[in-house]
Order: sequence, then structure tokens, then C-alpha cells
Amino acid sequence: MDKFSTIPGYINLSKNGELEKRALELKKILKSCTLCPRECKINRVNSEKGFCNAGIKPKISSYNIHNGEEPPISGDRGSGTIFFTGCTMRCVYCQNFPISQLYNGIEYEENELADIMLELQKRGAHNINLVTPTHYIPQFASALILACKKGLKIPIVYNTSGYENVSILKLLSNIVDVYLPDIKYANENIAIKYSKSINYCDSVKKAVIEMHDQVGDLITDENGIAIRGLIIRHLVLPSNLAGSGEIMHFIAENISRNTYLSLMSQYFPAFHSHDFPELCNPVTKKEYEEIIKIVEDENMPNGWIQPII
Ligand code: SF4
Repeated sequence: MDKFSTIPGYINLSKNGELEKRALELKKILKSCTLCPRECKINRVNSEKGFCNAGIKPKISSYNIHNGEEPPISGDRGSGTIFFTGCTMRCVYCQNFPISQLYNGIEYEENELADIMLELQKRGAHNINLVTPTHYIPQFASALILACKKGLKIPIVYNTSGYENVSILKLLSNIVDVYLPDIKYANENIAIKYSKSINYCDSVKKAVIEMHDQVGDLITDENGIAIRGLIIRHLVLPSNLAGSGEIMHFIAENISRNTYLSLMSQYFPAFHSHDFPELCNPVTKKEYEEIIKIVEDENMPNGWIQPII
């Protein structure tokens, strides 16, 4: 496929039967689930549940047109967000905890998930934005085949914590058009302490390198809407707990200085963060400005810096 084509990659994959093959391969993984680096190896087809608590049917907390994403994702008509219930991480400060850790949502059939995507397209969404989809990727791939047959033609955005297995990401090549991962931490002990995520830092680095290999730096159309590429999000934590400087250095040295970075100041102490005194305060202006200075020093000109009050 032409890397710069405006036709979403999954349409070409569906023409030659490759999309069906990938969907089948992903479905097989559910029998011994290794969709994320936890590799629980439980049989979800037999109703066993692993760390993420995901069952066999895709569970969704909400879907809608969303205008608050980065400008190339939301554009003027909004992004078609689908919020999947559950998560492969356990961030103690999660701002979406009712969805990610209290499992609010409704189970859908795959044909219903396909119809949701088509409805969002009909409502004018620039893209289908899969929010925290890792644990439901096989079900999404099957639904995508159905949606594609019925005329889905907008880009797929993969909006993830970054806690991904490269072997699974390879199966998403040319299915996902825009990768929108977080890089949350630079230190494995911190990732375990605040998100119970073993091997997060190594996994996210490998995952983002793979994502960039697949889609490259961000490409937009004549209206500034994302067609293909990578946007990396980073939430700055108080007292530099995330290791933000190290993350910026990694992106600059190992991904691309042209990476579109979405730097976020919006941390607030949510959910269980009150059990950790060091997480009870917002990020200070001084802390945040130090990170901005590192971004400038690393000569990374692209992206968005959320203001700090
Ligand atoms: S997706 Fe869920 S069940 Fe599968 S390996 Fe990850 S945490 Fe375990």
C-alpha cells in the first residue's frame, strides 16, 4: 500500500482477504490470551478472565463524537470515540477509573460494534478512535470486516496506554492508521508502584518503535486532519515521578525529533492517589516548565503543550 494514500489501509487489506486472516489469527489468541504484556494465557473463549477482566464480548462504556482530542484527531467535526471498558493497567490516579477499573459498560455483539463505527461515520466523525482497545482487538478486527463491507472508510485511531505486545501490533499493520499511545513512565519500579505494570517501560519503548515503523511521523490532509502517523501523549506527574525528561530524550533519539508530542499538564489526584502522599498535589508550574524546556532542548518542534494554570 502507498504509505501516503488517503485510503485507510484496512480497505486494501479487506480486498485481498488479509484482513480476514488477521482477524482469525487474533481470535485464536483469545484461547490463551497474550494480547498485552501481562500474557495471562487464560482461555477467554471459555469465559476465563485475566487481569483486565475482559470477557469474550466487547464491553463499551460509551461512544460519541468527541471534540477534545488533539486538533488533527478532533478536527472541526469531531473524533468518533469508542471507550472500551477495562484496562490492562491499574493506574492508582486513573481519571477514567469508573470505566477502566470499576468496569462500567455494556457488552455488544461484533455486528453491533460494526454498526457503532458506521453510525459514528454517518454522524461526521473524522475517524474511529478506539480508546483503550488492547484487550478487545480481536473482536474489533472482526467487527471491522463487517463495517468495511458496509462502507466504513474513515481512518482508525489506536488510542492506548502503550502497554502493548509488539507481536500483536504487527497484526495491526495497515489496519491502524494513526497510533496515539501514551508513554507514562521511564522507570520500571514506578510503573509497578503506580500502575501494577511489570515491564511497562521496556514494552512501551518497543511498542512505540514498532508503531513508528508502521505509520511514520504524522501526516495530515489539506484540512489538517490526521491521515496516518504517530502522536505520543505524555502526562506529567508531580515531582517528576514519570521521568518526563528521560521519555523526551528517548523519543528524540529513538523515534523521531519530528514526532508530534502531546504534553499534558492535566494531572489531578483521582481515584486511589490519596493513598500516596507524593501524588496528592497537582504538577507545579516550575516542574512543568522544566519539562517544556527539555522538549525545546531536544529540538522537538511538533505537537501541543497543554497550558498550566
Ligand atoms: S488482554 Fe487481559 S487477559 Fe489478555 S493478557 Fe492482557 S490482561 Fe491478560
